[in-house]
Amino acid sequence: MGRTIAKISLVLLIIVALPISFYLVREFSALSKNELMVQRVFSTQLESILYSVNQYSENVVKQWSQSLDQPVDPSGNVMQGLVYNIFQNNQSVLAIRFLQLQSNQVEAAFFNHNYQLDNWPPMNQLKRLQDYFKSNYQRIETKTVNDSTLMFYFLTKNRHGEQVCQLMINPKEFVLQTMSPQIQQIAQNLFFISVSDSLSGNTIYSTEENSGLSEATEKAQMWYLPAYKLGIRLKAKTVEELATERTQRDNFTLLGLSIVVILGLLFVIWNIRKEMKLAELKSEFVSNVSHEIRTPLALISMYSETLLMKRLKTEEKQQEYLNTIQQESARLTDIVNRILNFSRLEKNRIKYRFENIDLAQLVPEMLATLKSHLKAAQVDCQFNSEVDEALAYADSEVVKTMLVNLVDNAIKYGADQNKKIDIRLLKKQKAIWVEVEDNGIGIAPKNQKHVFDQFYRVTEGDLAHKAKGSGLGLNLVKRMMKAHGGSVSLRSRLGEGSTFILKFPVKKQ
Ligand code: ADP
Repeated sequence: MGRTIAKISLVLLIIVALPISFYLVREFSALSKNELMVQRVFSTQLESILYSVNQYSENVVKQWSQSLDQPVDPSGNVMQGLVYNIFQNNQSVLAIRFLQLQSNQVEAAFFNHNYQLDNWPPMNQLKRLQDYFKSNYQRIETKTVNDSTLMFYFLTKNRHGEQVCQLMINPKEFVLQTMSPQIQQIAQNLFFISVSDSLSGNTIYSTEENSGLSEATEKAQMWYLPAYKLGIRLKAKTVEELATERTQRDNFTLLGLSIVVILGLLFVIWNIRKEMKLAELKSEFVSNVSHEIRTPLALISMYSETLLMKRLKTEEKQQEYLNTIQQESARLTDIVNRILNFSRLEKNRIKYRFENIDLAQLVPEMLATLKSHLKAAQVDCQFNSEVDEALAYADSEVVKTMLVNLVDNAIKYGADQNKKIDIRLLKKQKAIWVEVEDNGIGIAPKNQKHVFDQFYRVTEGDLAHKAKGSGLGLNLVKRMMKAHGGSVSLRSRLGEGSTFILKFPVKKQ
């Protein structure tokens, strides 16, 4: 049976558990292909938004450089007007200075916020700028002076020739005042964009309070502010977050489902096991009963044949044969009755006739009818009652059937010699107890909980073959006691004996 169960379990496992685990593993492997594609599209989008922020800063600086590239005297009124305009509109601009390239002399210098300008543009870089300038490209170079100062320098041309224009700005102010309105506009309510110091990671500006570069999903260097980095992130959940959320949700559902399926599987396996065990017990039952019926049938047929042939000489002998035939047919009736009872119980066809009966009277009466049977089995049977009257609400015929069953078992599984059966009647725990005690072989603890199961027989020590039985008797008793609203229990020690206790509810008022 064990192998069959193992096979069935394996097949069920392959059919149900394997596909589930495959699906689970697949689900756990993060993002699906489509989600990855959407993710890529999104990050490209975010990158291009950062690009446009950079583009804007470039436009601003280029506008300055172009407006300062005029064929006028740097210290003249026109230039002063232009510079004034830049200072006026851009608080971040600290100073603007023109250096004549040929003479290496300062031609004009303008200051905003009393700024002290004592830095020079790196002269060795100028050759490169000149080359670009010759091919009509005004290249703008940057140089970080300190935390709060950044220098732009580029070439311009006036009536006297080429000159270097130095434009000093405060980069933080540039971000906060010049760029922030544009960043806000780009971000709208969809993204949050931040500008942070690349080295320290400190946030200079952010469209959202308390959020900086660490939360951005895309980052980019600022073209004109080398010390700063841009960061961007979708305000709503990112594709990755949505996917993770979905995967988690799916996995929880799947886990729950798997648990249900596994529990279902276990239940199915448990049921199959039970059914197989029952089938095994039923087949044992058929062989036991056939065995039990065969002996009395053989005896009856043999004895009646002898009688019919009139081979028996004495009247005494004839009487003995007739007695045996009668006893054996009684045994047969008993077996058949038990099976019929069982089958009726199975189909709920037993009709109980409950009434208030006095067990103190019924039990000794019943024992009296068994007297010859007990004598034949050489059993010393005693009855003791602690009470004079024990009124219970019960069916007297059924009570008799149960007692016969218990007494029969006490004989069958009794001691080899000096068989003793003690029957006691007592009132305990608001019930009437009928105890049937024997000094027989007893029942091992591990078998005690099974003896009331249908078809169950203790098979150890070849007992099943020594004492014939159907494994139905105790199950019948259990069901009948239940119908009485009572119960049956067992106290037993292997090798010392057993006591079966019938607990009846007391008489109904
Ligand atoms: P059976 O027809 O086999 O006697 P029962 O249902 O009456 O069926 O009993 C079930 C099993 O319980 C028996 O096979 C036997 O192993 C055990 N049993 C029942 N009564 C006793 C007893 N008085 N002493 C020891 N074992 C018992």
